[in-house]
Amino acid sequence: MSTQPRPLIQAPGWKAQLRDAVRDGEALLAMLGLSADQVGLSKEAARDFPLLAPRDFVRRIRHGDPRDPLLRQVLAVGDELVDVAGFGADPTGETEGAIARTGILHKYAGRVLLIVAGGCAVNCRYCFRRHFPYGDNVISRRAWGDALGYVSGDTSITEVILSGGDPLIADDRALAELCDRIAAIGHVRRIRIHTRLPVVIPDRVTDALLDAVTPAGVQTVFVVHSNHANELDDVVGQAFARIRARGLVLLNQAVLLAGVNDDADTLAELNEALFAHGALPYYLHVLDRVRGAAHFDLDEARALELHGALRDRLPGYLVPKLVREEAGAPAKTPLG
Ligand SMILES: *Cc1c(COP(=O)(O)O)cnc(C)c1O
Ligand code: SF4
Repeated sequence: MSTQPRPLIQAPGWKAQLRDAVRDGEALLAMLGLSADQVGLSKEAARDFPLLAPRDFVRRIRHGDPRDPLLRQVLAVGDELVDVAGFGADPTGETEGAIARTGILHKYAGRVLLIVAGGCAVNCRYCFRRHFPYGDNVISRRAWGDALGYVSGDTSITEVILSGGDPLIADDRALAELCDRIAAIGHVRRIRIHTRLPVVIPDRVTDALLDAVTPAGVQTVFVVHSNHANELDDVVGQAFARIRARGLVLLNQAVLLAGVNDDADTLAELNEALFAHGALPYYLHVLDRVRGAAHFDLDEARALELHGALRDRLPGYLVPKLVREEAGAPAKTPLG
């Protein structure tokens, strides 16, 4: 029962929604009828990695529930300040060796990741990029020539992944120019877009955006990021439907997070809801061990148990691959 696409109502526009996003913990809690003590709010935790949550996403948080799974993903809490052994600043080894040129990570055969934008529309507290030195590595328009030169010079690269931050923070004109230039490289077959924007500000998915990222001569794949069925309301479903109406493949990656989705019912519901809205599960990542995110961690035995439970109750195509990102590995490492 995937939702029919409908024309987008251009009410406030995605940029206005981004400007208007909630950036203050106390304001967020006031909107939800919660007190700072109930949830462990910490101003200090938000100092290095600010709180950021668009109102459309906040609307999907349950009022008055200190344990809401969406709230937990965005609220800066005191737990983030606890130093835990094994949780460092660069768990995926991104800043050691994988940077081929400014703005390009080339870790895996055949595909490169282009860091199009440093910012996101939401700051997910578990994010492994919370300490990433974007300042030095976001691809500026000026650096495109160099990065794209790297791609043209290596005929083994058949896929360019637009990433960030969130690449859809860039505006349509910049994305159109970038995608056209990528499509003009003969050996590139696919443009893949890793983005959480269709989930957190679904109005970002406009016809103009879809025109920009679907140049002739390449296939475009969307990989969105949702961790809980409560994130997927009808408005998100309509954004997914607009992507699918272009005939594009739409996949989801999720992160396994304690207190958010670490039980079999919740995970099964997420994957069912994704399919109902037209997306297929791709990856279920175990947490990257980044400093400040230890309170989201699950031990590996529990991750395997949950994944096994999904295999036992869902059709194979609704079971995401359980993976870990390891510095220096030639691909995501499958678990189990
Ligand atoms: C995850 C990742 C990719 C994509 O890997 P897939 O298994 O193809 O989804 C590519 N490059 C980098 C640097 C990555 O971290
Ligand atoms: S949208 Fe993605 S990159 Fe941005 S903070 Fe969330 S998990 Fe990190």
